[in-house]
Amino acid sequence: MFDIIKEWREQRILDNSDYTHEDWQQAAARIAILDRLGDDELSHLFDLATLFLAEKSITGAQGFEVTDAVKQSIALQACLPILNLSLEWYEGWSSVIIYRGSYKSQQTSMDEYGIVHEGSQHRSGEAWLRGPVILSWQDAQHSGERDGHNVVIHEFVHKLDMMNGRANGFPPMHPDMDAARWTEIMARDFEDFQTHRKSGLDRYGATNPAEFFAVLSEVFFETPQKLVDAYPDIYDIMVKFFRQTPL
Ligand SMILES: [Zn+2]
Repeated sequence: MFDIIKEWREQRILDNSDYTHEDWQQAAARIAILDRLGDDELSHLFDLATLFLAEKSITGAQGFEVTDAVKQSIALQACLPILNLSLEWYEGWSSVIIYRGSYKSQQTSMDEYGIVHEGSQHRSGEAWLRGPVILSWQDAQHSGERDGHNVVIHEFVHKLDMMNGRANGFPPMHPDMDAARWTEIMARDFEDFQTHRKSGLDRYGATNPAEFFAVLSEVFFETPQKLVDAYPDIYDIMVKFFRQTPL
């Protein structure tokens, strides 16, 4: 019964969307990492992004104007990690706040991964436990260019990680996944990364296990071969977690 109501509600949102399929195609064409998706996957991503925009408010901070292009870019990249999961992975919070450039956070301390943020003084993004995602558009607009950096994916992966509490690099596992194997591989490779540089992997990932998961997820979607070269087992468990094979 509730599924029927949910489906009906979602269909109504999709039918009344501000954006046409062509609008979404144009927005997607500006994000290089979406090239690998087939037509069916892209259509599904457009539907998810439409529902995402209906559920979340995207607001500009300090006078930043949130245009359609900004909304579409954020929605498409936010929904890429959940393309084969569901929008339910982003439940429990409602807003995305966007600054024009890097910003000074009001928050002065990191409460043991409850609030996860990038950059100490000037920040490019934050994800708050049960709170907003905050992004710098200057950084977000250069995401998706296949350079291994993607602040949008990074922050939204923190959100996936927070589905079972504070971000710690251990998101909820699917029933067909082995939680012990995830922990073993992540712990082993995180320890390795703390002492070894890896080509194409941002050192920020050595900060803590939550950042390791978020940084490597950026690489998974942006430059997957770099992840396979550095940590093949992590690529494998991420394929199982995201249910995608970007390579
Ligand atoms: Zn982070």
